[in-house]
Amino acid sequence: MKIAIDGPAGAGKSTISKAAAKKLGFIYIDTGAMYRAVGLAAVRQGIDTTDTEGVTSILDDIEISISYDESGQQIFLNGENVSAHIRLPEISVAASNVAVIPAVRLKLVELQRELAAHNDVLMDGRDIGTYVLPDAEVKIFLTASVEERAMRRYRELVEKGIQADFDEVKADMEYRDKNDSEREFAPLKPAEDSIILDNTDLSLEQSVDKICEIAEARKAEKQ
Ligand code: C5P
Repeated sequence: MKIAIDGPAGAGKSTISKAAAKKLGFIYIDTGAMYRAVGLAAVRQGIDTTDTEGVTSILDDIEISISYDESGQQIFLNGENVSAHIRLPEISVAASNVAVIPAVRLKLVELQRELAAHNDVLMDGRDIGTYVLPDAEVKIFLTASVEERAMRRYRELVEKGIQADFDEVKADMEYRDKNDSEREFAPLKPAEDSIILDNTDLSLEQSVDKICEIAEARKAEKQ
């Protein structure tokens, strides 16, 4: 069974998806981490992340893979565990920029589909229900107001000891929302058959419970 969770930045997708996957006994795949790893690779090589040709030219030399340990999904860039490096605010913007480039998407979508072919997965991202796994049995579009999403991300950064400015976090988020929704290839939008879950006023636990309820009901229908 496949569960697709899409939505804008800061809707709590990763945290909620990770917890829901654990509860359901599914493998959690964070596809945003893959775009972040490509963004990081470009930044490290001094390539402008909006330069399609420049980014495309390094793709063949980039190998992305994932594994799991007790803290969850770990992401590797050419064998190096970059899970901590990819969470910096500048890498969020780099990820959103490289995610516009079709060659980047095609490379990562291949890896994502391959992972989903062999496991019961809960995969989160921007285009999972619409493009990566159009046959997913459960599709959820997780969203919340931009103020709430920016506040959540701001708190997360502060908790990690990363210096942040709320207005800057909100502006970055609006930039990414626009970039992700307006790109030509596989833009961020709810799949027609998705359930929209606005969690502005829901706690983390309530969001997780809601997703598990939807998945369990779907599972029962299938049996
Ligand atoms: O989910 P996260 O914020 O980590 O994703 C980082 C960026 O990667 C997003 O802003 C988006 O541009 C891109 N992304 C994407 N498609 C996905 C997952 C992430 O375009 N399936």
